[in-house]
Parts: sequence; C-alpha cells; structure tokens
Amino acid sequence: MIVRRTKVVATLGPACSTPERIEALILAGMDVARLNFSHGTADDHRARARMVREIAARHGRYVALMGDLQGPKIRIARFADKRVTLDEGAAFTLSRTYPLDAGNVNIVGIDYPDLTTDCRPGDELLLDDGRIVLRVDEAVGDALHTTVVIGGELSDNKGINRRGGGLSAPALTDKDREDIRVAASIGMDFVAVSFPRYGRDIEQARRLVRAAGSSAWLIAKIERAEAVADDEALNDIICASDGVMVARGDLGVEVGDAELVGIQKRIIRSARSRNKLVITATQMMESMIASPMPTRAEVSDVSNAVLDYTDAVMLSAESASGRYPVAAVQAMARVCLGAEKHPTSRSSHHRLGETFERRDETIALSAMYAANHFPGIKAIVSLTESGHTPLIMSRIRSSVPIFAFSRHDATLYRMALIRGVQAVFFDPDAQTLERLPDAVIAELVRHKAVEQGDWIILTHGDFHAGTGGTNSMTLWRVPGNAATD
Ligand code: PGA
Ligand code: MN
Repeated sequence: MIVRRTKVVATLGPACSTPERIEALILAGMDVARLNFSHGTADDHRARARMVREIAARHGRYVALMGDLQGPKIRIARFADKRVTLDEGAAFTLSRTYPLDAGNVNIVGIDYPDLTTDCRPGDELLLDDGRIVLRVDEAVGDALHTTVVIGGELSDNKGINRRGGGLSAPALTDKDREDIRVAASIGMDFVAVSFPRYGRDIEQARRLVRAAGSSAWLIAKIERAEAVADDEALNDIICASDGVMVARGDLGVEVGDAELVGIQKRIIRSARSRNKLVITATQMMESMIASPMPTRAEVSDVSNAVLDYTDAVMLSAESASGRYPVAAVQAMARVCLGAEKHPTSRSSHHRLGETFERRDETIALSAMYAANHFPGIKAIVSLTESGHTPLIMSRIRSSVPIFAFSRHDATLYRMALIRGVQAVFFDPDAQTLERLPDAVIAELVRHKAVEQGDWIILTHGDFHAGTGGTNSMTLWRVPGNAATD
C-alpha cells in the first residue's frame, strides 16, 4: 500500500465548522488543522479543535492542531463606510492621530507608532497583500502623505507592508500572549509565530508556550524581508525553531514575487539540513476558493514544493472560507502522491560530506542509509519518546515508510507534520524484550506495511532512558506466520 508522504495542512474557518465538513476534510487527507488567530474567537477555535480531535480519534487518525498567532502585522484602521476605492494618481494619507473608524477616500488612521520614522519619501507601501500600492511623498508630523500607484478597493483593517521590509514591530503582541494561553489550553501541537525577526523572538514565544503548560513545537513563519536578507539571519531563526513556514503571502509582498521561488528553495534546504521541518504555504490552490478544480499552474506549484522536499503543503482561504474545501484537500493529496513518484523524491544528499553531531542522529541516518540501500526493507520503526529520531530520519529522502512508535500522544500528534512518518501508539513497557519483535511486527502487519519475508529496521534507546536516547539499530525479518498474527 502506497501512503502519501507529504503532509497536508488545512486552515479551518467558516467553511468548515460542522462535524460533517471536518470529517470530510479528515477523510480527504487533512493531516494538520490550522487554527488562525487572525480570525475568529477563542471559542470558535476551541469548538473546531474539539471536533477535529473527536472525529480523528473515531477514525484512528492522529490529526494535529496548529495555532497560528496573528503577530505584529501592521494594519490600517477602518473606514466610515467599510471600504473606499482609490484611484491611481490620487493623494492618500495614513495618519496616527486620525480617528480609527472614520477613514475616507483621502485619509485613514493607522495604529503604528513608528510610521513616520520607519518610512522615507520614495518608499513603496503595499496594502492588502500588494493589491494596492502607495508611494510615500513625505512624512509630516503624525502623517504619511502618499500617492496611489496601484488603485482599487481598500477595506477595513487591511495589512500593510513596505517593499524591501523594515516595518518592524516587536514579534509578540498582547493578543499573541493571550492566544498562546488559549492554544495551550486547547492542547495544540504546534504554535506558529508570525513575523519573527530573530531567533530570540522564537525563544521568547517558546518560554511563553512552556509557561502556559504546553509542549507544542514552535514554527517560525518566514515572512519578513529581513529574515531572508542573508544566511546568518535565516539560520538564526531556523535554529531557534522546531520548524519553519515559507509564508509566501507576506514574504512575496516584501521581497517581490520574482525572488520568491529561489527563496522558497533556500528556506526548505536550510531548514532540512538543520533537522527542522518545513511547511510551504499560501495561494497554493488559490483558484479553488471559487472553482472545484486547481489550475495546471497550481498543480505545478504544489508538485514543485514536493520535489523541493517540503514536509507539508498548506491551504489557507481555500479550506477556511472557500467554496470547495474538501475538494481542495483531495486535490492536494492527489498531487502530492503524484509528485512523490518522481525519482528525485527518493535519493538523498543530506549531510553527505558532513559530520554528525549526536548519537541519535548517527543512528537515525545510518538506518536511512541502510533502508535506501537494502531493497528488502519495507519499513523503518523508531521507538521514540520525543519524536526527534523520526524527524531526523525523514530529513533523508527515501521511499521507505518511517513509523514512529510512541506511548506519548503529544509525540504521535507531532508526527502529522513530518514527511514520510506515520504515527502508531505503542508502549514498549508493555512488552518484554523477547516479545518486542513480535509485537512490533504485529503492529506493522495490522497497518498493512509489511508481509512475511519483508525486512524491517528498528531503532531504539535503552528502555526507560527517555529523550535523545536512541543508540541501537537492528534488522529483523518478518517470519512466515506473521501475516496471520
Ligand atoms: P498568514 O501567513 O496567512 O497568516 O498571513 C502566511 C503568509 O503570509 O503566507
Ligand atoms: Mn503572513
């Protein structure tokens, strides 16, 4: 049985609030449900999270929950009539002191204290993901006077970026701090941090997440021009996180769309080489917001991310508020599976010519080398406490499935985001050492992963040793009677 390796993250929103819809998303292949704190109330997220957990459990699936913090996105305030239409060439003013809900076609308020010091004449400001472009003419007092370069409709609370980056507010807002507590109380498996500038922004978020009693893994959204300005800046953020998101929406606005594909490849490569996971996000199936079928260009975009070896691809509005959320998940799952057949998905240059840093990494990568070179091997099993060993294993390209066997639910849920890894509940303490091979093989047979005569690789630590203890690797052959075990 061929199981899809690339994982699908689907954002939940108004288009998926019923149990029937969430069940359909899970059956279509949603591996991780993203709850976006930029929209909806804590109670909305809580209700959807509960449905995901309950329905997934009923289907024997470990579907993870990811809370995505809004972050310090700078936004304009509101218009008296909710929206205006800006004409090219017109003058338009952004003001720190103008009433926040009284904007009109000439002026709108903005709650960003450094507006006039951060912007210079000639700068280009991009609103609503670049749909509207303003050129700064001058900063006077509390206001920026601009000229509309690309006009169109502009509505309440739209985001604002500067081309080239540099509009910088501290990474975590008061709302983010509150949402971290909500994410912890919901039991989310991942917390995504928006607009981090440095690794220390992620470290600060991690402290808050831990203080709230959560063991969630931290995902850094790479979406500022500064974060990709040089290798040092990017590595600083990657190293502080458990994984990153190529957040192409904001990043594309800041660096320009033409630079984006190269940067995407660089982020994916850097994250993987540092044993971190990576999600490729935004507009992957954008036309499916209104159409039941993706375009060839979208299929190609998802496929290319799979060939770049992303761990996961992500749906935003397509699943949260589009007309065809289930079809969008199905399309992503289908396209990933197709792209994984390409030979580059199976051969690896990971860390060739480099030294390993840790014992568990050495065992993990040895296991993958063995699995990729001994055709009899049909499954790799990692008995894991934290999930770190299967994460390292899956940095190597391979077509052999990796099974994370763990007794910890938190670990099993995390596996939902890691390419090529499947989660299986397994308590090694319930086995004697002599019974262990039979018990592991019986689970694999139950998952239809192996048949008699197949080989498997098992890695584990000293039993009861805890995290980071993987130090052994063994090869077993599935005995003749295993299929009926
Ligand atoms: P967002 O992040 O959807 O929260 O803006 C993703 C992106 O910017 O691509
Ligand atoms: Mn963003």
